[in-house]
Amino acid sequence: MPTVWVLGAGQLGAMLKQAAYPLALRVEPVEPDSEQLPNIKDDDIVTVEREQWPDTPVTRYMSQQASFMNADIFGKIADRFHQKTMLDSLEINTAPWCSVEVDTKAAALHAELGCDVLLKRREGGYDGKGQHWLYQDQGGDVPADWRGTGIAEKKIPFDEELSLIGARDQDGKKVFYPLTLNLHRNGILMASIAPLSRVAHLQDTAEAMLGKIMDSANYVGVMAMECFRVGEQLIVNELAPRVHNSGHWTQAGACVSQFEMHLRAVSRLPIKAPEVRGYSVMINIIGVERELDWMKIPSTQCYWYGKDVRPGRKLGHINLNHPEKSALQTALHELRELLPEHYQDVFNWVETELARA
Ligand code: AMP
Repeated sequence: MPTVWVLGAGQLGAMLKQAAYPLALRVEPVEPDSEQLPNIKDDDIVTVEREQWPDTPVTRYMSQQASFMNADIFGKIADRFHQKTMLDSLEINTAPWCSVEVDTKAAALHAELGCDVLLKRREGGYDGKGQHWLYQDQGGDVPADWRGTGIAEKKIPFDEELSLIGARDQDGKKVFYPLTLNLHRNGILMASIAPLSRVAHLQDTAEAMLGKIMDSANYVGVMAMECFRVGEQLIVNELAPRVHNSGHWTQAGACVSQFEMHLRAVSRLPIKAPEVRGYSVMINIIGVERELDWMKIPSTQCYWYGKDVRPGRKLGHINLNHPEKSALQTALHELRELLPEHYQDVFNWVETELARA
Protein backbone atom coordinates (compact mmCIF):
# COMPACT_ATOMS: atom_id res chain seq x y z
CA MET A 1 0.00 0.00 0.00
CA PRO A 2 1.26 3.51 -0.77
CA THR A 3 1.77 6.22 1.82
CA VAL A 4 -0.69 9.12 1.72
CA TRP A 5 1.15 12.32 2.62
CA VAL A 6 -1.05 15.12 3.93
CA LEU A 7 0.01 18.73 3.49
CA GLY A 8 -0.83 20.15 6.91
CA ALA A 9 -0.71 18.51 10.33
CA GLY A 10 -3.69 19.86 12.24
CA GLN A 11 -6.72 17.97 13.51
CA LEU A 12 -7.98 17.13 10.01
CA GLY A 13 -4.69 15.42 9.17
CA ALA A 14 -4.82 13.56 12.49
CA MET A 15 -8.35 12.33 11.77
CA LEU A 16 -7.32 11.21 8.27
CA LYS A 17 -4.55 9.23 9.96
CA GLN A 18 -7.05 7.67 12.35
CA ALA A 19 -9.32 6.69 9.45
CA ALA A 20 -6.47 5.01 7.58
CA TYR A 21 -6.15 2.04 9.91
CA PRO A 22 -8.93 -0.18 8.50
CA LEU A 23 -7.61 0.50 5.00
CA ALA A 24 -4.08 -0.56 5.96
CA LEU A 25 -2.84 2.72 4.51
CA ARG A 26 -0.03 4.73 6.01
CA VAL A 27 -1.03 8.39 6.38
CA GLU A 28 1.62 10.96 7.23
CA PRO A 29 0.54 14.54 7.94
CA VAL A 30 3.36 17.01 7.33
CA GLU A 31 3.84 20.42 8.99
CA PRO A 32 4.46 23.12 6.37
CA ASP A 33 7.30 24.49 8.53
CA SER A 34 8.97 21.12 9.00
CA GLU A 35 12.75 21.23 8.51
CA GLN A 36 12.83 17.82 6.89
CA LEU A 37 11.43 17.04 3.45
CA PRO A 38 9.14 13.97 3.39
CA ASN A 39 10.52 10.96 1.57
CA ILE A 40 7.80 10.69 -1.09
CA LYS A 41 8.02 7.59 -3.30
CA ASP A 42 6.73 7.31 -6.88
CA ASP A 43 3.61 5.37 -5.99
CA ASP A 44 2.75 7.49 -2.93
CA ILE A 45 -0.10 10.01 -2.90
CA VAL A 46 -0.05 13.63 -1.77
CA THR A 47 -3.22 15.27 -0.48
CA VAL A 48 -4.10 18.23 1.76
CA GLU A 49 -6.00 19.10 4.90
CA ARG A 50 -6.04 22.81 3.99
CA GLU A 51 -6.62 24.76 0.79
CA GLN A 52 -3.87 27.30 1.46
CA TRP A 53 -0.40 27.02 2.77
CA PRO A 54 2.67 29.18 3.31
CA ASP A 55 5.42 28.94 0.73
CA THR A 56 8.07 26.80 2.45
CA PRO A 57 10.58 24.21 1.18
CA VAL A 58 8.21 21.45 2.34
CA THR A 59 5.04 22.86 0.72
CA ARG A 60 6.93 23.62 -2.51
CA TYR A 61 8.29 20.07 -2.60
CA MET A 62 4.94 18.42 -1.81
CA SER A 63 2.88 20.51 -4.22
CA GLN A 64 5.29 19.84 -7.09
CA GLN A 65 4.92 16.05 -6.86
CA ALA A 66 3.28 14.36 -9.87
CA SER A 67 1.06 12.55 -7.35
CA PHE A 68 -0.21 15.80 -5.77
CA MET A 69 -3.98 15.29 -6.06
CA ASN A 70 -6.17 18.04 -7.52
CA ALA A 71 -3.16 20.29 -8.09
CA ASP A 72 -5.14 22.74 -10.25
CA ILE A 73 -8.05 23.26 -7.89
CA PHE A 74 -6.37 25.11 -5.04
CA GLY A 75 -5.67 28.25 -7.05
CA LYS A 76 -9.34 28.27 -8.13
CA ILE A 77 -10.79 27.79 -4.66
CA ALA A 78 -8.38 29.32 -2.14
CA ASP A 79 -8.81 32.78 -3.67
CA ARG A 80 -12.43 33.93 -3.31
CA PHE A 81 -12.22 35.98 -6.49
CA HIS A 82 -11.37 32.86 -8.52
CA GLN A 83 -13.86 30.70 -6.58
CA LYS A 84 -16.73 33.10 -7.25
CA THR A 85 -15.67 33.42 -10.90
CA MET A 86 -15.70 29.63 -11.23
CA LEU A 87 -19.17 29.36 -9.64
CA ASP A 88 -20.50 32.06 -11.98
CA SER A 89 -19.04 30.32 -15.01
CA LEU A 90 -20.74 27.06 -13.96
CA GLU A 91 -23.98 29.02 -13.45
CA ILE A 92 -24.20 27.92 -9.82
CA ASN A 93 -26.08 30.24 -7.48
CA THR A 94 -23.83 32.27 -5.22
CA ALA A 95 -24.25 35.58 -3.37
CA PRO A 96 -24.04 38.50 -5.84
CA TRP A 97 -20.55 39.95 -5.56
CA CYS A 98 -17.92 42.19 -7.06
CA SER A 99 -14.23 42.73 -6.67
CA VAL A 100 -12.90 45.43 -4.29
CA GLU A 101 -10.32 47.34 -6.30
CA VAL A 102 -7.86 49.91 -4.94
CA ASP A 103 -10.23 52.73 -5.92
CA THR A 104 -13.60 51.07 -5.13
CA LYS A 105 -15.88 53.34 -3.10
CA ALA A 106 -18.52 52.19 -0.60
CA ALA A 107 -21.20 54.14 -2.49
CA ALA A 108 -20.55 52.08 -5.61
CA LEU A 109 -20.75 48.83 -3.59
CA HIS A 110 -24.04 49.86 -2.00
CA ALA A 111 -25.42 50.88 -5.41
CA GLU A 112 -24.56 47.44 -6.79
CA LEU A 113 -25.10 45.15 -3.80
CA GLY A 114 -27.51 46.90 -1.44
CA CYS A 115 -27.48 48.54 1.99
CA ASP A 116 -25.55 45.82 3.81
CA VAL A 117 -22.39 44.63 2.10
CA LEU A 118 -19.96 42.05 3.42
CA LEU A 119 -16.29 42.48 2.53
CA LYS A 120 -14.34 39.24 2.48
CA ARG A 121 -10.60 38.87 2.09
CA ARG A 122 -9.68 37.15 -1.16
CA GLU A 123 -7.37 34.80 0.70
CA GLY A 124 -6.87 33.43 4.17
CA GLY A 125 -10.30 34.17 5.70
CA TYR A 126 -11.73 31.30 7.75
CA ASP A 127 -13.89 30.85 10.85
CA GLY A 128 -15.33 34.33 10.31
CA LYS A 129 -11.91 35.97 10.15
CA GLY A 130 -11.27 38.24 7.20
CA GLN A 131 -14.76 39.76 7.10
CA HIS A 132 -15.91 43.36 7.39
CA TRP A 133 -19.50 44.65 7.14
CA LEU A 134 -20.26 47.94 5.40
CA TYR A 135 -23.63 49.35 6.48
CA GLN A 136 -24.94 52.16 4.32
CA ASP A 137 -26.87 53.76 7.20
CA GLN A 138 -23.64 54.02 9.23
CA GLY A 139 -21.72 55.71 6.41
CA GLY A 140 -18.06 54.81 6.27
CA ASP A 141 -15.95 53.86 3.31
CA VAL A 142 -13.95 50.79 2.35
CA PRO A 143 -11.12 50.63 4.94
CA ALA A 144 -7.70 51.34 3.43
CA ASP A 145 -6.38 47.85 4.14
CA TRP A 146 -9.28 46.28 2.23
CA ARG A 147 -8.65 48.06 -1.04
CA GLY A 148 -7.45 45.67 -3.70
CA THR A 149 -7.48 42.70 -1.29
CA GLY A 150 -11.07 41.61 -1.15
CA ILE A 151 -14.41 40.91 -2.70
CA ALA A 152 -17.74 42.40 -1.64
CA GLU A 153 -20.89 40.33 -1.26
CA LYS A 154 -24.57 41.16 -1.00
CA LYS A 155 -26.05 40.24 2.38
CA ILE A 156 -28.09 37.07 1.98
CA PRO A 157 -31.14 37.01 4.28
CA PHE A 158 -30.85 33.27 4.67
CA ASP A 159 -33.26 30.98 6.50
CA GLU A 160 -30.48 28.64 7.56
CA GLU A 161 -27.06 27.28 6.62
CA LEU A 162 -26.72 23.82 5.08
CA SER A 163 -23.67 22.00 3.81
CA LEU A 164 -23.14 19.05 1.54
CA ILE A 165 -20.14 16.73 1.74
CA GLY A 166 -19.45 14.71 -1.39
CA ALA A 167 -16.68 12.56 -2.79
CA ARG A 168 -15.58 11.73 -6.32
CA ASP A 169 -13.22 8.99 -7.45
CA GLN A 170 -10.80 8.87 -10.36
CA ASP A 171 -13.45 7.29 -12.63
CA GLY A 172 -15.89 10.13 -11.94
CA LYS A 173 -18.13 8.17 -9.56
CA LYS A 174 -19.71 10.49 -6.99
CA VAL A 175 -21.23 9.81 -3.58
CA PHE A 176 -22.79 12.20 -1.08
CA TYR A 177 -23.76 12.41 2.58
CA PRO A 178 -27.16 13.85 3.50
CA LEU A 179 -27.40 17.63 3.79
CA THR A 180 -26.17 18.88 7.16
CA LEU A 181 -27.70 21.79 9.10
CA ASN A 182 -25.09 24.10 10.63
CA LEU A 183 -25.10 26.77 13.31
CA HIS A 184 -22.38 29.45 13.10
CA ARG A 185 -21.62 32.06 15.76
CA ASN A 186 -19.34 34.92 14.75
CA GLY A 187 -18.45 32.97 11.63
CA ILE A 188 -17.35 29.86 13.59
CA LEU A 189 -19.18 26.55 13.24
CA MET A 190 -20.68 25.64 16.62
CA ALA A 191 -22.95 22.69 15.85
CA SER A 192 -24.20 20.45 13.05
CA ILE A 193 -27.20 18.12 12.73
CA ALA A 194 -27.83 15.38 10.14
CA PRO A 195 -29.83 13.93 8.59
CA LEU A 196 -33.00 16.07 8.45
CA SER A 197 -36.00 14.73 6.60
CA ARG A 198 -37.40 18.27 6.24
CA VAL A 199 -34.56 19.22 3.84
CA ALA A 200 -34.36 15.86 2.04
CA HIS A 201 -36.24 17.35 -0.95
CA LEU A 202 -33.25 19.68 -1.53
CA GLN A 203 -30.74 16.81 -1.61
CA ASP A 204 -30.90 16.18 -5.38
CA THR A 205 -30.44 19.87 -6.17
CA ALA A 206 -27.48 20.12 -3.80
CA GLU A 207 -25.90 16.97 -5.24
CA ALA A 208 -26.31 18.27 -8.78
CA MET A 209 -24.55 21.52 -7.79
CA LEU A 210 -21.59 19.92 -6.03
CA GLY A 211 -21.43 17.15 -8.63
CA LYS A 212 -21.12 19.73 -11.41
CA ILE A 213 -18.34 21.53 -9.52
CA MET A 214 -16.37 18.32 -8.85
CA ASP A 215 -16.82 17.08 -12.44
CA SER A 216 -15.76 20.40 -13.94
CA ALA A 217 -12.50 20.26 -11.97
CA ASN A 218 -12.01 16.51 -12.47
CA TYR A 219 -11.74 16.51 -8.69
CA VAL A 220 -10.81 13.40 -6.69
CA GLY A 221 -11.55 13.13 -2.97
CA VAL A 222 -13.93 14.79 -0.53
CA MET A 223 -15.23 18.30 -1.17
CA ALA A 224 -17.56 20.37 1.01
CA MET A 225 -20.10 22.90 -0.25
CA GLU A 226 -21.48 25.39 2.30
CA CYS A 227 -24.83 26.87 1.32
CA PHE A 228 -27.43 29.34 2.45
CA ARG A 229 -31.03 28.17 2.18
CA VAL A 230 -33.37 30.95 1.15
CA GLY A 231 -36.84 29.46 0.82
CA GLU A 232 -36.44 26.56 -1.58
CA GLN A 233 -33.27 27.95 -3.10
CA LEU A 234 -29.69 26.95 -2.28
CA ILE A 235 -26.99 29.60 -2.65
CA VAL A 236 -23.37 28.51 -2.37
CA ASN A 237 -21.44 30.44 0.27
CA GLU A 238 -18.12 28.68 -0.14
CA LEU A 239 -16.36 25.51 -1.16
CA ALA A 240 -13.66 23.56 0.66
CA PRO A 241 -11.58 21.09 -1.38
CA ARG A 242 -10.96 18.83 1.62
CA VAL A 243 -12.61 17.12 4.55
CA HIS A 244 -14.68 19.65 6.48
CA ASN A 245 -15.78 20.41 10.03
CA SER A 246 -19.46 20.10 9.07
CA GLY A 247 -18.76 16.47 8.10
CA HIS A 248 -17.31 15.41 11.44
CA TRP A 249 -20.63 13.81 12.45
CA THR A 250 -19.96 11.13 9.80
CA GLN A 251 -17.41 9.59 12.18
CA ALA A 252 -20.31 8.45 14.36
CA GLY A 253 -23.24 8.55 11.97
CA ALA A 254 -22.16 6.87 8.74
CA CYS A 255 -20.70 3.49 7.83
CA VAL A 256 -17.79 5.26 6.10
CA SER A 257 -16.67 8.60 7.58
CA GLN A 258 -15.71 11.56 5.38
CA PHE A 259 -12.07 10.90 6.37
CA GLU A 260 -12.12 7.28 5.21
CA MET A 261 -14.07 8.28 2.09
CA HIS A 262 -11.40 10.82 1.16
CA LEU A 263 -8.62 8.26 1.63
CA ARG A 264 -10.50 5.66 -0.41
CA ALA A 265 -11.03 8.12 -3.26
CA VAL A 266 -7.44 9.38 -3.46
CA SER A 267 -5.91 5.92 -3.13
CA ARG A 268 -8.13 4.21 -5.74
CA LEU A 269 -10.07 2.10 -3.24
CA PRO A 270 -13.84 1.72 -3.82
CA ILE A 271 -16.12 4.52 -2.67
CA LYS A 272 -19.79 3.86 -1.98
CA ALA A 273 -22.89 5.80 -1.04
CA PRO A 274 -22.53 5.97 2.75
CA GLU A 275 -25.22 4.31 4.79
CA VAL A 276 -26.28 6.72 7.52
CA ARG A 277 -27.18 5.55 11.01
CA GLY A 278 -29.81 7.25 13.18
CA TYR A 279 -29.54 10.93 14.08
CA SER A 280 -26.25 12.74 14.57
CA VAL A 281 -25.30 15.96 16.29
CA MET A 282 -21.83 17.48 16.38
CA ILE A 283 -20.88 20.13 18.94
CA ASN A 284 -17.61 21.99 18.42
CA ILE A 285 -15.57 22.70 21.55
CA ILE A 286 -14.36 26.28 21.17
CA GLY A 287 -12.10 27.89 23.77
CA VAL A 288 -13.24 25.57 26.58
CA GLU A 289 -11.04 23.35 28.78
CA ARG A 290 -11.54 19.61 28.38
CA GLU A 291 -13.99 18.04 30.80
CA LEU A 292 -13.53 14.28 31.26
CA ASP A 293 -17.18 13.85 32.23
CA TRP A 294 -18.11 14.49 28.57
CA MET A 295 -16.70 11.04 27.93
CA LYS A 296 -19.10 9.39 30.39
CA ILE A 297 -22.26 10.37 28.54
CA PRO A 298 -23.84 7.55 26.52
CA SER A 299 -23.88 8.22 22.76
CA THR A 300 -20.96 10.66 22.81
CA GLN A 301 -17.77 10.28 20.82
CA CYS A 302 -15.25 12.83 22.10
CA TYR A 303 -12.37 14.21 20.06
CA TRP A 304 -9.79 16.44 21.77
CA TYR A 305 -7.13 17.87 19.49
CA GLY A 306 -4.44 18.37 22.12
CA LYS A 307 -3.99 22.09 21.44
CA ASP A 308 -3.40 24.87 23.97
CA VAL A 309 -6.70 26.32 25.18
CA ARG A 310 -7.31 29.85 23.84
CA PRO A 311 -10.54 31.84 23.48
CA GLY A 312 -12.17 31.26 20.09
CA ARG A 313 -9.91 28.30 19.24
CA LYS A 314 -11.32 24.99 17.95
CA LEU A 315 -10.05 22.47 20.50
CA GLY A 316 -12.19 19.41 19.92
CA HIS A 317 -15.62 18.19 18.98
CA ILE A 318 -18.23 15.88 20.39
CA ASN A 319 -20.34 13.66 18.14
CA LEU A 320 -23.61 12.31 19.48
CA ASN A 321 -25.40 9.59 17.59
CA HIS A 322 -28.40 7.41 18.29
CA PRO A 323 -31.17 5.70 16.32
CA GLU A 324 -33.75 7.31 18.60
CA LYS A 325 -34.17 11.04 19.01
CA SER A 326 -35.25 10.67 22.63
CA ALA A 327 -31.95 9.02 23.63
CA LEU A 328 -30.03 11.75 21.83
CA GLN A 329 -32.09 14.40 23.61
CA THR A 330 -31.26 12.84 26.99
CA ALA A 331 -27.55 12.83 26.13
CA LEU A 332 -27.77 16.46 25.00
CA HIS A 333 -29.35 17.43 28.35
CA GLU A 334 -26.44 15.84 30.19
CA LEU A 335 -23.85 17.48 27.97
CA ARG A 336 -25.50 20.89 28.28
CA GLU A 337 -24.87 20.78 32.06
CA LEU A 338 -21.15 20.29 31.43
CA LEU A 339 -20.57 23.19 29.05
CA PRO A 340 -20.35 26.88 29.96
CA GLU A 341 -23.14 29.43 29.91
CA HIS A 342 -22.38 30.70 26.40
CA TYR A 343 -23.22 27.23 25.02
CA GLN A 344 -26.81 27.42 26.25
CA ASP A 345 -28.11 29.03 23.07
CA VAL A 346 -26.23 26.43 21.01
CA PHE A 347 -28.06 23.66 22.90
CA ASN A 348 -31.36 25.53 22.56
CA TRP A 349 -30.82 25.61 18.79
CA VAL A 350 -29.79 21.94 18.62
CA GLU A 351 -32.76 20.77 20.67
CA THR A 352 -35.24 22.79 18.63
CA GLU A 353 -33.80 21.65 15.30
CA LEU A 354 -33.43 18.03 16.37
CA ALA A 355 -37.09 17.97 17.33
CA ARG A 356 -37.94 19.16 13.78
CA ALA A 357 -35.34 16.96 12.03
P1 AMP B 1 -17.46 32.44 5.47
O1 AMP B 1 -16.19 32.87 6.11
O2 AMP B 1 -17.65 32.90 4.07
O3 AMP B 1 -17.73 30.98 5.65
O4 AMP B 1 -18.62 33.15 6.32
C1 AMP B 1 -18.79 32.88 7.68
C2 AMP B 1 -20.23 33.15 8.05
O5 AMP B 1 -20.58 34.52 7.77
C3 AMP B 1 -21.23 32.33 7.25
O6 AMP B 1 -21.36 31.04 7.78
C4 AMP B 1 -22.47 33.17 7.40
O7 AMP B 1 -23.06 32.95 8.67
C5 AMP B 1 -21.93 34.59 7.32
N1 AMP B 1 -21.97 35.09 5.93
C6 AMP B 1 -21.03 34.88 4.98
N2 AMP B 1 -21.37 35.43 3.81
C7 AMP B 1 -22.58 36.03 4.01
C8 AMP B 1 -23.48 36.78 3.16
N3 AMP B 1 -23.20 37.05 1.88
N4 AMP B 1 -24.64 37.20 3.71
C9 AMP B 1 -24.94 36.95 5.01
N5 AMP B 1 -24.13 36.26 5.86
C10 AMP B 1 -22.96 35.81 5.37
